[in-house]
Amino acid sequence: MIPYQQPDASGHFGPYGGSFISETLTHAIQELQDAYTRYQNDPAFMAEFHHELAHFVGRPSPIYHAARMSREQGGAQIFLKREDLNHTGAHKVNNTIGQAMLARRMGKPRVIAETGAGQHGVATATICARYGLQCVVYMGSEDVKRQSPNVYRMKLLGATVVPVESGSRTLKDALNEAMRDWVANVDNTFYIIGTVAGPHPYPMMVRDFQSVIGKESIVQMPEMLAAQGCRGPQPDVVMACVGGGSNAMGIFHPYITHEGTRLIGVEAAGEGLDSGKHSASLQRGSPGVLHGNRTYILQNEDGQVTETHSISAGLDYPGVGPEHAHLKDIGRAEYVGITDAEALEAFHYLCRTEGIIPALESSHAVAQAMRMARTMRPDQSILVCLSGRGDKDIGTVADLSQADFYCRPSCRGQAVKGGVAVNLPVAGVRA
Ligand SMILES: *Cc1c(COP(=O)(O)O)cnc(C)c1O
Repeated sequence: MIPYQQPDASGHFGPYGGSFISETLTHAIQELQDAYTRYQNDPAFMAEFHHELAHFVGRPSPIYHAARMSREQGGAQIFLKREDLNHTGAHKVNNTIGQAMLARRMGKPRVIAETGAGQHGVATATICARYGLQCVVYMGSEDVKRQSPNVYRMKLLGATVVPVESGSRTLKDALNEAMRDWVANVDNTFYIIGTVAGPHPYPMMVRDFQSVIGKESIVQMPEMLAAQGCRGPQPDVVMACVGGGSNAMGIFHPYITHEGTRLIGVEAAGEGLDSGKHSASLQRGSPGVLHGNRTYILQNEDGQVTETHSISAGLDYPGVGPEHAHLKDIGRAEYVGITDAEALEAFHYLCRTEGIIPALESSHAVAQAMRMARTMRPDQSILVCLSGRGDKDIGTVADLSQADFYCRPSCRGQAVKGGVAVNLPVAGVRA
């Protein structure tokens, strides 16, 4: 067992994390810290959390042995932790339920959130609808345009979506605006952050709520491995995509002390790690302060946060959770990059080989698993966190494949010509 006890009392993971906030938020952050400290050890709170996960989300999510994929890749057995089967279609809801429960107990009737692709916004609006909380979601106006189905979903669920016109009009600007709202409305407002970032206690709290992914996996894997004749009781490798890093921390955390298991985080390499067009904060960034914590960020020589790029909106963030920065520094986790093209290829491959349409974010982890499985033996194993389903991405994929897609506004009312499967890249095996 590798000893691991992070963060320290002030929210530091080694030199990372902490709480870099304005004077006006110190009270709100202290209040949140006190509430979380109290309820994380409260059996009634935890029982309700797990009841919600079971009855509203549909947990535990299954682990699936990707048999055809494993056979075709010709190496390690690949297993998928099916977060795509959760209600709302991704891991994000695990966290929004936990934080919304805290908001209720703290007597905050109003919830705010930031969102990029809209996935966290939808997961927040969903639980606010269920709990009767007022919900305001900040979203860059660029993203509002790009992600109109999720904007409409949030509205259907009763949320107010506020387009943010500042900066690059994307996720980081939405985060700044949400912080501003919180400062002005601390008395009645709870801020639900969507990933393992922000000031302490958010990175720890979001990790704890998402750790249900890894805790279930540790229970499920021994039997799964035995059934395939793999070495057990736990997988040789656990793998997940890293945007802010919450699905990865969720599956990694219970495995950190298991020294036999390698942990691999997959960042978005966009058009290549050396192209300048990527979102690989851990591999191409440097330490700095962003959104209330110290971590790896993509910045220029003057400390200005630089523009990021990824095919998947959910990985398109210039920072990363501080615990990943720490795990990288101590060498407990490794971080690699997968390009847009590789992720897209893995997306199509999983659709056709296993009958699963993965989120483009998750497709980065699938691509890395394919690459790595070939270098391993058939009695070895890789567990991939399939963080979400890809229904939200089919418009993007259809555009990239120049396929006809009946939902595109430009062809509304036209017959589907030949379906979506035109000009798809050949789902194949790279040497
Ligand atoms: C938001 C999102 C991600 C990226 O967020 P993390 O905090 O890095 O997990 C990954 N996959 C899906 C499906 C998402 O919606």
